[in-house]
Amino acid sequence: MLPTKAYGAQSATAAIAPLEIARREPGPHDVLFDILYCGVCHTDIHMSRGQFPRSIFPMVPGHEVIGKVVQVGSAVSQHQAGDIVGVGCLVDSCRECAECHAGEQQFCNGRVGTYNAYERDGKTPTYGGYSTRMTVDEAYVLKISPKLDPAAAAPLLCAGITTYSPLRHWKVGRGSKVGVIGLGGLGHMAVKIAAAMGADVTVLSTSEGKKADALRLGAADFAVTKTPDTFSRLAGHFDLILNTVSASVNYDAYISLLKRDGSLVILGIPDGPLALNAFGLMLKRRSVSASLIGGIRETQEMLDFCAEHGIVSDIETIPIDKINEAYERILKSDVRYRFVIDIASLR
Ligand code: NAP
Ligand code: ZN
Ligand code: ZN
Repeated sequence: MLPTKAYGAQSATAAIAPLEIARREPGPHDVLFDILYCGVCHTDIHMSRGQFPRSIFPMVPGHEVIGKVVQVGSAVSQHQAGDIVGVGCLVDSCRECAECHAGEQQFCNGRVGTYNAYERDGKTPTYGGYSTRMTVDEAYVLKISPKLDPAAAAPLLCAGITTYSPLRHWKVGRGSKVGVIGLGGLGHMAVKIAAAMGADVTVLSTSEGKKADALRLGAADFAVTKTPDTFSRLAGHFDLILNTVSASVNYDAYISLLKRDGSLVILGIPDGPLALNAFGLMLKRRSVSASLIGGIRETQEMLDFCAEHGIVSDIETIPIDKINEAYERILKSDVRYRFVIDIASLR
């Protein structure tokens, strides 16, 4: 085993602090890489504070991982030493079910999360990117184009694919009217990607001060959701609304902004069951749905799309010992727009 420096939580009430983990020696299909950067997703906060069922402690968060390959196994064909690679929210899946065959590994019942999960043996915990190196099966390792800045590309591995996948699934293209609720890590990626697909994007935000950023990121319009006028002005306007808020929202109010057959897609984790009125859906055959990250093939497609369109995340780089402060700032929506840990600070 390879002793590896990391930062993680010993319990749901503990701060993120230094600890040591072990990575496996690379097997024939494995890629061993030094981690360069790791994005900080709001899910890291939900998970490390035990807000999802079945937390596994100690927990090393981090699923927006960029690294440089150090060694590959004898059967590895897609990656070689020196390559810049990425790992997102998945490090394995059953590879046999219909979801895996369809390349939608995120829906596989045997999927293995990058952290807060067990390997397919059911007993070895997985540890995320707040660490200096990682061993991952090559089938779950993504290629990062040299056109992309490696630090700013890290958030593409979760925030990028989580917004790209529903934009593709709901067939967003030139002229589509797309609303994005919440301008945070996911939200700002949704704006950039939807705008690059040709959509007419409106940001729906609680933070008046984010208007100039929203327009710079590619939005055509910005509306403050605390103002009731927003909901009359934009009634029946959108084909698709992506909700990236990390809490519950007034679903009926947002449903009223959809056109006939429009969809509200939930990406942010609500803090309880959804409360909504069926009439808002019935009267214009609208839908409410939800989406979970994206599969490996689509994640590579998204990375290539971003390289082609020059899209990366707007980031604030931090050393690892600032991680607890970063969590508090994320909770106050005070991040423009993703923290990325420079893992050199952990070596
Ligand atoms: P984030 O950077 O904190 O952004 C969330 C944004 O939502 C904030 O910037 C804020 O934007 C808005 N917001 C926050 N609290 C709010 C509240 N109480 N009411 C209204 N608006 C609020 O978080 P993130 O990393 O983008 O993640 C967002 C959510 O998506 C989290 O719950 C995360 O766990 C989840 N997630 C889901 C998936 C998936 O596969 N479905 C993947 C990754 C993350 P404004 O200032 O503009 O209002
Ligand atoms: Zn995430
Ligand atoms: Zn499967």
